[in-house]
Amino acid sequence: MKISAIETTPVYVPRLRAFGAVPRTALGPADISEHGIVQVRTDEGLTGLGELSSVFARRGPLLCRDVEERLTPVLLGRNPLDITSALRAMEAQLPDGQLAIAGVEMALWDLAGKALGAPVYTLLGGRMRERIPLSYSVPHGEPEQMAEFALERAREGFRTVKVKTGQGMQTDVEAVRQVREAVGSAHRVRVDANMAMRSAKDAIRLVERIMEYDPEMLEQPMPAHDLQAMAEIRASVSLPIMADESIGPPRDAMEVIRREAADVLNVYVTESGGIQNAARIFTLAEQAGLGCMIGSMPELGIGTAAQIHLGIAMPNLDFDSDTCGSLYQSEDLLATPLRFEAGFAFAPEGPGLGVELDPEAFERAARRSPPP
Ligand SMILES: [Mg+2]
Repeated sequence: MKISAIETTPVYVPRLRAFGAVPRTALGPADISEHGIVQVRTDEGLTGLGELSSVFARRGPLLCRDVEERLTPVLLGRNPLDITSALRAMEAQLPDGQLAIAGVEMALWDLAGKALGAPVYTLLGGRMRERIPLSYSVPHGEPEQMAEFALERAREGFRTVKVKTGQGMQTDVEAVRQVREAVGSAHRVRVDANMAMRSAKDAIRLVERIMEYDPEMLEQPMPAHDLQAMAEIRASVSLPIMADESIGPPRDAMEVIRREAADVLNVYVTESGGIQNAARIFTLAEQAGLGCMIGSMPELGIGTAAQIHLGIAMPNLDFDSDTCGSLYQSEDLLATPLRFEAGFAFAPEGPGLGVELDPEAFERAARRSPPP
């Protein structure tokens, strides 16, 4: 079997509103997902599906162009089942192109599964769990709104809610306090600064002030590159520190480990450069004695399915994960929606990623105009 063509399509999908407004975090407003769909075709008539996802605006068409101009030429004619060698070729061609590479790489896993009649989690070593416990993120707002939103998610069954901070010390502390009060002691309250703290001292101060509300951990207090400050915070507080934006491909995870900059790694299929690289980060973390969760951009249906297959198979998925990106979207573009129940994600059954595009939804998302 050979790869005969690769098609990419930019898609635009509105995000669901929160508190009747555009959801916002320290990374900015998130009105619409500008992603891309990858279809890898073979000479035997099989098609593998992948998704190009980015948390930032205007990236979908650029990622599609990276795939078309840079990655497709080194993939045409290859056996799609030789995933590692295709990954190496893509990384050589586009060394910082993890988001583009991930969209193609997950399509190769989908193809392999379809060719071999097995779900991707089986190809990754098989089931370690039946379902993935989920966390749901609470965007910026008035602390009262955030508490109400968190309570709604807790009532739906989410065991963990993630409070997005970066609205100023007073508001952040008040948001954590009110969310904890709303959800009670049976749920976990995670805190994600999305790099918004100005200094290690500021982050330490935030931790000191929220500790009485029993947070689970503090995620990425400092900018991605500032591992020194991350390490300083980690050494100064008893609250576990999670690295998110600091981690792209496995080499970044290795650096976070070496610099002792985190207790927990937030692993992405997208930012690591695909399912295989994400699995490698899980192994690095396991050897270093660090915990792992799976993070989200958030993805649409295909990208979310890839995360779920990874999470079903990884032995050391220690923390409730964000593998429910499609729940933040107005549509997931799938013919059959993914199964989420009472705060858990289930792997779609069937070969490969186990998902198919809904042709009408796909066409609608491709026809939508990009935001101005
Ligand atoms: Mg995060």
